[in-house]
Parts: sequence; structure tokens; C-alpha cells
Amino acid sequence: MAGLVVLGLLTVVAGVLSGRSTINYVLARDAREAALSWAAEIDKRLGEQAFPSPRLLDKDLQVLDAAKLNADVASPSGAGASLPTNSTFNTDGFSLIEGLDRLTMGWALSHIYRTHNEFVSKLDGFAVLAPDGATLAVGGNLSPASLQTMLGESGGGAALAQSVNDNAVGTVAIPGDAHNRLAFVPMTDDGKVARVYAFAVDQTAAAALTNVALTVVTLTTSLLIVLGFSVPAAIASRRIRERWLAEDQIRYLAMHDSLTGLPNRLQLHQHLDRAVARGKRHGHLMAVFGLDLDRFKDVNDTLGHATGDALLAEVAARLKESTREVDLVGRLGGDEFAIVAEDLDAPEDAMRLARRICTALGEPYHVNGHEVTSSASIGIAIGPLDREPPDTLLKHADLALYRAKEDGRNTYRFFEPAMDAALQKRRRLENDLRNALRKNQLYLDYQPQFDLENGRLTGYEALVRWWHPSEGEIPPTTFLPIAEETGLIVPLGEWILKTACAYATTWPLDTTLVVNLSPAQFKTQDVLGLVRRVLNETGLEAHRLELEITEGILLQNTESVMETLTRLDQLGVSIAMDDFGTGYSSLSYLTRFPVKKIKIDRSFIDTLGTSPQTSAIVSSIVGLGQSLNVTITAEGVETEGQAAMLKKWGCDQVQGFYYGEPAADVPDSDKTPTDRSLVA
Ligand code: C2E
Ligand code: MG
Ligand code: MG
Repeated sequence: MAGLVVLGLLTVVAGVLSGRSTINYVLARDAREAALSWAAEIDKRLGEQAFPSPRLLDKDLQVLDAAKLNADVASPSGAGASLPTNSTFNTDGFSLIEGLDRLTMGWALSHIYRTHNEFVSKLDGFAVLAPDGATLAVGGNLSPASLQTMLGESGGGAALAQSVNDNAVGTVAIPGDAHNRLAFVPMTDDGKVARVYAFAVDQTAAAALTNVALTVVTLTTSLLIVLGFSVPAAIASRRIRERWLAEDQIRYLAMHDSLTGLPNRLQLHQHLDRAVARGKRHGHLMAVFGLDLDRFKDVNDTLGHATGDALLAEVAARLKESTREVDLVGRLGGDEFAIVAEDLDAPEDAMRLARRICTALGEPYHVNGHEVTSSASIGIAIGPLDREPPDTLLKHADLALYRAKEDGRNTYRFFEPAMDAALQKRRRLENDLRNALRKNQLYLDYQPQFDLENGRLTGYEALVRWWHPSEGEIPPTTFLPIAEETGLIVPLGEWILKTACAYATTWPLDTTLVVNLSPAQFKTQDVLGLVRRVLNETGLEAHRLELEITEGILLQNTESVMETLTRLDQLGVSIAMDDFGTGYSSLSYLTRFPVKKIKIDRSFIDTLGTSPQTSAIVSSIVGLGQSLNVTITAEGVETEGQAAMLKKWGCDQVQGFYYGEPAADVPDSDKTPTDRSLVA
């Protein structure tokens, strides 16, 4: 708005300035035209000798001393020396003077006023001058002295000379008088300037009138300009305001998580930078928490995303309640949250906060008509760190969180430097694993499986191995999770299946090949297509291939998993459930999925004979298999005693070091294991 006012004022000032010069131009022009018109009138009357009678002589009228004038005209050295040597002057000077006398009287008559009043300029005084400026007669408000002053300075003389020279009307402003000017009209006789009429023009009225007109015009223009600007300006300012609002909204969205309204990752990072700076400045401790809900995916998978979202919103609210106003609680995405707590007295403060949060998040939730229980794992990093960037605290908190998860969830762990080392190592492995396949560092071992009743070799389970050039043998339980997380499991899985199938074609026809499949493969790969292709390429018969899956697969889209498993079954490939008893052990899938075989996990076999509970579990699983008509395999059989118990309960198959360790080569058929090991 202030801008508009300034604009308006500027317009007025500009209008006034340009108006001034316009006024001057208009007034000068009016004076010129008035003077011309008056001169013409006077000349006409001079010619007609139509002069008023002396009695009408104005008291102001002065006719200069006729004798002096005559003398001047006569004497070549006098003031009138430069008068044109016109015969009229020389011979009939007096009559001319008399004529002038009369002429000036004529001026005194209001005749001109009355008959030539079409001009706003008014006649204020009149003089007859010789071309050189000598004053011959004056009237009205012009006196010989004032006239001479005007001619002497302020350019009056120059204007007169110019006027005579150009034989054109000339005007000059009268100094100290804003509204009066002098106009010279040269009059010629026989083509020569014989005399000059000087008119004092009063333009007070003209100036006032022009001023009024100009003011009206200037104000109207200014008003129009201001209006012209202000309407679009008002519209523009509204648009700008709307845009600001929209930008505010965008800024909010950019900095907040839309589901919970908590600060998002971006804001968290910015806040963390500042918090670290504050901590360093004031020498205060701070803590960064990395927090992750335990098994949140299960909630999403079983109760749906809407319930999952509602749970997250409730978790966010509880986190806000458990922390102080100054602590920042942010959502990093999914079920991951982070907290920045400043101004701690000791790390124990962070520990107490972590406990409080674990308790708060462990309380049951009522969301979307469901009662849900949940818990959280927390990793804590204490700062500020001297040398490292603020983000390092988040990384440390994440590592500690990882440890909390490993240590059984629903707990908290503080970051320790060793965790960092473990992470570095993992990163290295990840990198090396990418090259391992290409560098032929991977190979397969095969472990035999036997029919417990008759001691017959039924098949071999392919187990992948990695020989790392500097680390040596790296167990699959270490590198497979990395392969799963990085997606390397896809090329790796393909390589395993191809290599094993190709090898199995060299085995006796009744020997089965058992290959493990990772749940990650079902997620990212067309397993059915892969199996078909590999069987085709290698020529292995489908019924000789057995695929081991784990219960983890049930966490995925069961529809498509079921479809794949059913098609594999139709193809002739059999499916075995590996590590039975360690996962969900939901028995329902045994009826829904085409599972032909259950492998009791090694952990149960391990304690067979020492723990009455596991004996009970294993014997019931064996019984279950019999009643469901599913083959039961016990894996990890290491002792004769374990073998005897399994045989007694009627377990179908066995696999374990007691019968044969995994080895790179499958022995020739004539070298199958002795049946000493099969004796119960
Ligand atoms: P798994 O499929 O249950 O394989 C059996 C594991 O038990 C193998 O360990 C094997 O060496 C070990 N084992 C066999 N008999 C005994 C025994 O008597 N005593 C003991 N202590 N251990 C025994 P490994 O080879 O380290 O494999 C571990 C896990 O890695 C496997 O468990 C499987 O889940 C996974 N894995 C191994 N190879 C592959 C593979 O080629 N593909 C996929 N997807 N997973 C694989
Ligand atoms: Mg297995
Ligand atoms: Mg197993």
C-alpha cells in the first residue's frame, strides 16, 4: 500500500513539473498571439489615422519629449542615431511622433480590451521602440525606466534584437513577475523594421486558469494511474498472499510426516545439527534414539494397513507424551522413529527415557476396533561427538537399535564402538559378495539324507558355501541375510539351482536333489519360471527336485505364494517345510499348501534325550506327520542316541553329521554310507 502512495505522489510531482513547462509554453504562445493581434489592430488604425482624440489621453500615458526625440533622430551621434533613416522618421518625425502619441493613446483606449478579448492574456502596458531599443512612447503600466531595465537585463535587449533581426514576434519574461511578460512585434516599412511595438502582457488570469486546468488534469491523471495500478496491485497482492499460504503449506508438508504430523527425516536432520551445536556450545549431553516397532509388519499383514496406520499415529502420540516439550520426536518412515533429547545430565537420563518409552509403547492399543499389542526396540547414541558430523549419531543409534533387535526386541541398547566395527565388516562383506560369484568364490556342498527305516540314501541337500580370500570360510547364515537384503539373492539363488540341478543329473536316478529357497526369492523373483527354466536347461526331472522353504514365506502375499507352490507341485517338484518349529508353526498351512515334507529343526534334535519337553515335541511332530501323511525329516542328527529315538517314534528321514557331513562331492553310488549308522 505504501508503494501505491509513493507512486501516486510521484505521479503528481511529475504532473506538476511537466505541467509547469506546459503552462509556460501555453502562456508564451498566448502572449505572442495576443501581441500580434494587438499590433495588427494598432497598425490598421495607424493607417486609417483613426486615433482617438487627445482628450481621451490616459493620465498614465507618456509621450517622450518630442524635441529630444527629434534631436535624437536628427543627430547621428544621439540615442536615436540607429533609428532607421526612413524618410518618415527624418522628414515627418513629429507627425510620426504625434502618430505614436496618438497610438499610445490608442492603447489607452479600452478598445483593444473590448474588441480583442479573445485572449486570456491582457494588455498591461504598451511602448513604441526604435529598432535599437530607444523608447519612443510608453503607456499603461510601462514606464521608460522600467522598460529600459527590462531591455537592459534579463535578456530583454537580446529578445528585442532577435525579434528585429528575425522580423518575428518575440517574448521575454519580466523578471520578478511570474505572470507578466514583454512581447515585441516588429513593424516594417518598405521591408525594413521601422519600429517595434512592445506590449506588456498581463497573464495573471491566464496563468490562474491554466493552473486550475492543469491541476485538474494532473490530479485526474494521478487518480487514474493510481487506480489503474491499485486494482491490479490489489489482485496481485491477494495472489501473492495465496501463494505464501500455499508455500507455507508446502513447507509444512516438506518438513512433516503426513500420517502422524511429526517432524520428518529432513526436519530431524536440521534439528539434530542445531542440537549438536547447542550441546557443544553449552557443554551439555544429548541423546539420539533410533526406535523401531517390533513385528509391525505382522500388524499390517494381519489387520490391514488402515489399522497399521492408526497404530503408528497412536505410537506417535505416546512418544510425544513420554518426552519433554523440548525433545524432538520424528518419524523416519515406516515404523521407524527417532528422538533427539537435549540437555541431559548423564546417560542414565537417556536410559530412563528409553524405559519409559518401552513401557508406554508396550501398553495395549485400541485401534480400528482391534486390541493390538506392540513393543519397540530402541538404540541410543550419546552426543555430541567431537569430530564426527551430527548424522553419525543417527547412524550409531541405528546400529544400537539393530543390536536391541538382535538381543530379543522390546529393549534398548546404547551404541558401542564395536557395533560400528561390525557394521564396517558387514559393508565390506556386502561389497565382496557382489564379486564373489564372478570370482568363483562360491561353491556348493551336498549333505546326504537317508530313509530311517531301510537306511537307503534318498538324496542330497545342496548347501551354499563362500570361500573368502582373506576371511576364509564365511557361513551361509552370515552372508545369506546380506544377499537377501541387497537383492543379490536373485542371481545367487539362480546360480545355486542351476549348479545343483546340473550336478544332480550325474547322480543315480533315484537320488533326490534338495535345494533351499529363500523367502526373499519369492518376493522378488518368478520362482516358478526360474525352476521351469532350470529344469529345462539341465534336463533334471521335476520329481527329483525338492525345494525347501521356511515359514518366513508365510509373511508374504499368501495368494501368490500359494499359487507358485501349487504350480510347482503340479510340475512334480516337491515342497519341504524347513526349520519346522522355529517360526510361527501355524499348522494351518500344512493343509492349505502342498507341503509334502516337514524338517524338524536342528535345535529340537540337539536336546533330544536331555530335555523331556523336546522329546515330547519331536515325538508329537512325528505323530502329526503320520496322521497328515506328511514325510518327517529330522535334521542335525549327531548321535546314535538321537537316531535311535527318532527311529523308535517312526521318523521317516534323517540328515546330520552322524550320517554324513556336507561335502563338495557326492560319492559314487557304490560308496553310499554304510548302514551301521542306521542301526538304532
Ligand atoms: P538348513 O537348510 O536347515 O541347513 C542345514 C544346516 O545344518 C546346514 O548348515 C548344515 O551344515 C547344518 N547341519 C547338518 N547336519 C548337522 C549336524 O549334525 N550338526 C550341526 N551342528 N549342523 C548340521 P549351513 O550349511 O551352515 O546352512 C545354514 C542355513 O543356511 C541352512 O539351514 C539354510 O537355511 C541356509 N542355506 C544354506 N545353503 C543355502 C542355499 O543354497 N540356499 C538358501 N536359500 N539357503 C541356504
Ligand atoms: Mg535346508
Ligand atoms: Mg533347517
